Amino acid sequence: MPEATPMDEPLTRNGPPCPFEKVFPSQLVRDDAFFMALAYNQGIDAWRSDEVPIGAVIELGGEVIAAAHNRRDSSGDPTAHAEILALGQAAKAIGDWRLNEATLYVTKEPCPMCSGATLMARVKRVVYAVSDPKMGCLGGATDLNALPQVNHHLLITRGVLEQECLALLQAYFQLKRKEA
Ligand SMILES: [Zn+2]
Repeated sequence: MPEATPMDEPLTRNGPPCPFEKVFPSQLVRDDAFFMALAYNQGIDAWRSDEVPIGAVIELGGEVIAAAHNRRDSSGDPTAHAEILALGQAAKAIGDWRLNEATLYVTKEPCPMCSGATLMARVKRVVYAVSDPKMGCLGGATDLNALPQVNHHLLITRGVLEQECLALLQAYFQLKRKEA
């Protein structure tokens, strides 16, 4: 683990600085909005390292057992999406690849790879903020969860903190386009 940096110190590599601040939800109400706020904060960390601002956390028994953000560019690894990294962390944390009782919170609908990995990890529930009609595979572009032969099905909740997470993504791409 790299050393923690002071909260407001930008980790920006070369991209546009992130104009959004992290949010601090009450620890007392651990609902979907609470965990999605933590995923949103991961998205801000992604932006601060000049990555597409997508974040994920995994909850088990009311606790966060994994938190990650997209690291595709910094790692040079096409599989380094927030969800994949979080699934790996979660499995390590509980010592079991089966995440049957866990909920994945992610700021954007999972892509084909991440939707597949989430199914293969037998995650109980997926909560996502923003639908992705191009690449989303849990209802946006297609729905892997609806494959009739698959014997595990995810419970899905859509649209939690949608506006906030969408604003973060849209602002990032707008500023990147201006920069280009
Ligand atoms: Zn993905």
